[in-house]
Amino acid sequence: MASINIIEDKCVGCRRCVAACPFNAIEIIDKKAHIGEKCNLCGSCVESCKFNAIDFQRDEVKIGDLSIYQGIWVFAEQRYGQLKTVSLELLGKARELAKTINVKVTAVLLGHKVEPLSKELVAYGADEVLMVDEEWLNDFNDHIYGETMVNLIEEYKPEIVLIGATAKGRSLAPHISSTIRTGLTADCTSLSMDVEKRLLVQTRPAFGGNLMAEIICPNNRPQMATVRPKVFKPLEADYNRQGKIIKLKKEPIEGSVKLIKNIDNAEGINLSDANIIVGVGRGIGSERNIRLAQELADALGGTLGSSRPVVDIGWLPYSRQVGQTGKTVAPKIYIACGISGAIQHLAGLADIETVIAINSDPEAPIFKIANYGIVGDVREILPLLTEKIRESKK
Ligand SMILES: Cc1cc2nc3c(=O)[nH]c(=O)nc-3n(C[C@H](O)[C@H](O)[C@H](O)COP(=O)(O)OP(=O)(O)OC[C@H]3O[C@@H](n4cnc5c(N)ncnc54)[C@H](O)[C@@H]3O)c2cc1C
Ligand code: SF4
Ligand code: SF4
Repeated sequence: MASINIIEDKCVGCRRCVAACPFNAIEIIDKKAHIGEKCNLCGSCVESCKFNAIDFQRDEVKIGDLSIYQGIWVFAEQRYGQLKTVSLELLGKARELAKTINVKVTAVLLGHKVEPLSKELVAYGADEVLMVDEEWLNDFNDHIYGETMVNLIEEYKPEIVLIGATAKGRSLAPHISSTIRTGLTADCTSLSMDVEKRLLVQTRPAFGGNLMAEIICPNNRPQMATVRPKVFKPLEADYNRQGKIIKLKKEPIEGSVKLIKNIDNAEGINLSDANIIVGVGRGIGSERNIRLAQELADALGGTLGSSRPVVDIGWLPYSRQVGQTGKTVAPKIYIACGISGAIQHLAGLADIETVIAINSDPEAPIFKIANYGIVGDVREILPLLTEKIRESKK
């Protein structure tokens, strides 16, 4: 097992390693470095020590024959016979990646009575569809779906597996990667191919969004990534495209968790598909004032989004949160009301045509990305805007 130790005789207490550790895991006690429990064995401190006082033992890596893994898979998530748009978005990206390494794109479709969806998957870019259409796959269950995917991966050996970072995808992907013992990068914001090394370069925000990390999986296969909705654009559907549909018969898998009842999100919000979003930030001032933003959203036929503090305070539910730890949205118009424009909030704004910002602080970072900016009190500006919109509708 990997281990890290300070060689006390060599350590001079220079503190270089303290500055190099991104996890604040090192302290200097009595002029000697001490590594604490926060250490996750990342190895970043080793090179910072000019006195060779850090002894870092890496795990021995056994690499199998990776060349037997071929092709890019996209997990085709569906619910009640309707494909999730993120799966179509991933097919478009998979096509682009597949072209660079000359492999085929396979959509993996699990469910019951899902056969009609296979044509749609081909139209959106799949060269072939691996389909398991069984009654026992009617309801999503991460164990049953996960084990089915694991069996298919072991049989067909894809080199890349892409999954939407939806609620289901987020429980399915780790089940697969931990069972197969391969790497998984969650919530990627960009994917590209290092063609020479045949590695998927998976980019995602790290350290609270302060830097973008490029992650690779050089020793294991498949290379797995989840991607949030709206990060990529789907291809235009071409229903004349031809693809191979492979229908597989599989023995039922038992899960220890039984689904008793499906309860839909009571509010039925689908922020990811909204065309107009009025985003509410802490600057709105109080829960009562949220109705001002709601009235504007209603006048525009839009919906409410929010920054994280508004959710943390409890003024709006988590289902409304936009950002790194909330939803990624791609409306045509995003109206940011009393939102400062922190990087973690902006991480949730993908490919928006028009951003309008209302903020009392002319220096607020949101103005840097806004197409239109209104400097002023959001509580005064919102009713004026709503009135204008209602008037123009008349
Ligand atoms: C790991 C991590 C993940 C995070 N994930 C998210 C995320 O998913 N989504 C997210 O939003 N944040 C997230 N955050 C928090 C983020 O860093 C910011 O703190 C947050 O986005 C700020 O929200 P805000 O703009 O509403 O509030 P503030 O930063 O407090 O800004 C309020 C703004 O309102 C303006 N204002 C004040 N009064 C008025 C008024 N009367 N009229 C007009 N303007 C006014 C102010 O000038 C200010 O610009 C995350 C942070 C971390 C560390
Ligand atoms: S960088 Fe090396 S010598 Fe300096 S405190 Fe850390 S372990 Fe000790
Ligand atoms: S291995 Fe990484 S986490 Fe551990 S002390 Fe060194 S830099 Fe910090």
